[in-house]
Amino acid sequence: MIHIGAHVSVAKGWEAMGKTTLELGGDTFAFFLRSPRGGAAKPVVPEDAAALRAIIEEHGFGTIVAHAPYTMNLCAVKEYVVEHAEDVFRGDLQNLEDYLPGQYMNFHPGSHVGQGAEVAIPRIADALNRLMDPGQTTTILLETMAGKGSEVGRTFEELRDILDLVKPDLQDRMGVCLDTCHVWDAGYDLSDLDAVLDEFDKVLGLHRLKAIHLNDSKNPCGAHKDRHEKLGQGFIGEERLKAVVTHPKLQGLPFILETPNELPGYRKEIETIKSWLV
Ligand code: FE
Ligand code: FE
Ligand code: ZN
Repeated sequence: MIHIGAHVSVAKGWEAMGKTTLELGGDTFAFFLRSPRGGAAKPVVPEDAAALRAIIEEHGFGTIVAHAPYTMNLCAVKEYVVEHAEDVFRGDLQNLEDYLPGQYMNFHPGSHVGQGAEVAIPRIADALNRLMDPGQTTTILLETMAGKGSEVGRTFEELRDILDLVKPDLQDRMGVCLDTCHVWDAGYDLSDLDAVLDEFDKVLGLHRLKAIHLNDSKNPCGAHKDRHEKLGQGFIGEERLKAVVTHPKLQGLPFILETPNELPGYRKEIETIKSWLV
């Protein structure tokens, strides 16, 4: 058993995301608390959030995976970019704590923009140590990255190095979100999924794997591009994605589609995934 859903729009409010997910046949979802480019967050309407929580409860949703903006770069060179990133992180986390506690918030670890990953990694960890609180209910997930440009998190080792520097009392509020398109583009060949998961376990520990972004890729393994494709229409292909969805070690996790689809496309993909599971 897995939980399935898509990245849905927050434009019509919070309850609408729950209703959309039900229409898609899903039982989890992802969303941006603000524009993915990182503008100001729309104030949350408490009644709207309560209505979403009621849907989640009533329908037994899996854990929701909120996505922090792409532009949130905690290891930027420019101080004002870091300050903005910290404001965004704090704001989004606070909204989750206030209105949707106990869920996940994933983020792209950052871009080192020429400093080198070895400089960026401690800066990301320092930021997390400042921004997180041991009492928070939200679990923060580092996303595995494709390694385009100067992205940090292109290997399991880079994610481990960040996690190793996070304070001990925050460790159980940290995890990893594995994006199938990103790991494929980063050079992890999903043809041998057991080998990739063994590697993940050896480097990071499988207990840290909390969510899956399920995407096909427009590029071959190792391309470092990060261009998502519809399931079965890219270089990863249906067989390898099916193996991910049905892998015994991944059962129970939330699987989020970030494929280039409108709602009908997501509905079809969720139906397809369900047919793989029987
Ligand atoms: Fe992402
Ligand atoms: Fe992703
Ligand atoms: Zn991506």
